[in-house]
Amino acid sequence: MQLERRSPLPRLIIKSLLLYLFVLFSSVLADPLPEGFVNLKKEIPGIEIELRYASDDNFLGRPVEGYERVSCLITKEAAEALKKVQEELNAFGLGLKVFDAYRPQRAVDDFVVWAKDVEDRKMKAYYYPDVAKKDLFSQGYIAARSGHSRGSSVDLTIISSAKGVSKELDMGTAWDLFGPQSWGKDLSVTPQQRANRMLLQTLMQKYGFKALKEEWWHFTLVDEPFPKNYFDFIAK
Ligand SMILES: [Zn+2]
Repeated sequence: MQLERRSPLPRLIIKSLLLYLFVLFSSVLADPLPEGFVNLKKEIPGIEIELRYASDDNFLGRPVEGYERVSCLITKEAAEALKKVQEELNAFGLGLKVFDAYRPQRAVDDFVVWAKDVEDRKMKAYYYPDVAKKDLFSQGYIAARSGHSRGSSVDLTIISSAKGVSKELDMGTAWDLFGPQSWGKDLSVTPQQRANRMLLQTLMQKYGFKALKEEWWHFTLVDEPFPKNYFDFIAK
């Protein structure tokens, strides 16, 4: 007796249907973003994002609490302003690279816990070579609250994206270096490095951000939509 060979077609259709249902349900079950927040990469596809607190390359030397997600979130208003900065830079073969934007409160709490453990100095040579860990609080490098939790602050630099190669402009220090040399107008860095900082600051201010004088990379939208809210949501 010859067995009837079943056509693979119905199985394929069932498989596709299951996959479709899986994708549909996953998107329904995924945490929705709170009203007013957007995924920065979706808003500005050409922007470069290196979420350093999600990696080992930050002052703690390990991923920070609350950064299990891989997406960079920010308020809609801040994203719209950044889009204009990006467009202006793009015309010159330049662009933005973002290190951090929205930061849940639990991440800031994690910084505080880390700062109290003075024995853990794994990343001292890279991020706070000239500051004693016990002084990070008193000198204002670590605080119990951060404007980043309000969703309209961003840490970023300028990259040259010409010829398909992306390279950070030389700003005189690495992002998140705790020290006076990170002040935007610090005179110990070269004129070219100061000019690069000035370019970033000028463009950010043009589109509604204010600079923080102690960190060349940090900016906050002046008309931020949530000036009093410190969020703690996690978006996967
Ligand atoms: Zn910052």
